[in-house]
Amino acid sequence: MARTELTKLAKELRRRVELSSESDWLAAGSRPAATTAPIPPAKNKEEGSRTERLAALSKKIHACRLCSLGASRLNAVPGVGSAEARVMFIGEGPGFDEDHKGEPFIGRSGQLLDKIMESIGLSRQTVYIANTVKCHPMKDPSNPEARGNDRPPTPEEMAACRPFLDEQINIIEPKIIVTLGASALKAMLGDGPPITKVRGQWREYRPAGGAAVKLLPTFHPAALLRDPNLKKDVWTDMKNLKKELESE
Ligand code: SF4
Repeated sequence: MARTELTKLAKELRRRVELSSESDWLAAGSRPAATTAPIPPAKNKEEGSRTERLAALSKKIHACRLCSLGASRLNAVPGVGSAEARVMFIGEGPGFDEDHKGEPFIGRSGQLLDKIMESIGLSRQTVYIANTVKCHPMKDPSNPEARGNDRPPTPEEMAACRPFLDEQINIIEPKIIVTLGASALKAMLGDGPPITKVRGQWREYRPAGGAAVKLLPTFHPAALLRDPNLKKDVWTDMKNLKKELESE
């Protein structure tokens, strides 16, 4: 084999090894053959002001007691990521770990979300991750130290917290919102077909006082931990997300 061909082969092998480690959240066999390069956040000349506006909003969230969740939370969990993010991932609400640390998606689901994002060149630093409610909904609000005490937020709690989420969207102006799971989908688009029917289909969300944003519903990472068969659907959604981001 000619020297140039050997060099080409070595490069290709190196690329495949890198890809397989990036996509190790997928089961063997459904691993993608697509390449991926890091997707940077959007550039914006108003970076300082966006960051400042998000920080000011976080302060308001930390002080908020508008709904009953504010009375039992240990920490409010406004969100994490880049003020210049082109993608916002929106989940249901903080759980035990998030309530204790004040950061969204840091338990097992969060670790899986990190891997999913990495597989298409995104990261916690380049996207923005938030929830439909910023405080931990608990079955027994008197016991925030108990694990397994989580429950979905009520429609009233989501409605009370909505202005914060809308303001985050209006500040960041993401190109795409990805909702994670049935609760987040319902919170954003209201009652409609179940997540199993609309997953992967492009929708639109218009925050109060802002412009419409493309919305892609997919499964929550916790659902993937319960049923690994769902990973291939999420991978399909992530490839579509990457394609959309690259189409700018
Ligand atoms: S969940 Fe939202 S509305 Fe309710 S107290 Fe927390 S920040 Fe305020």
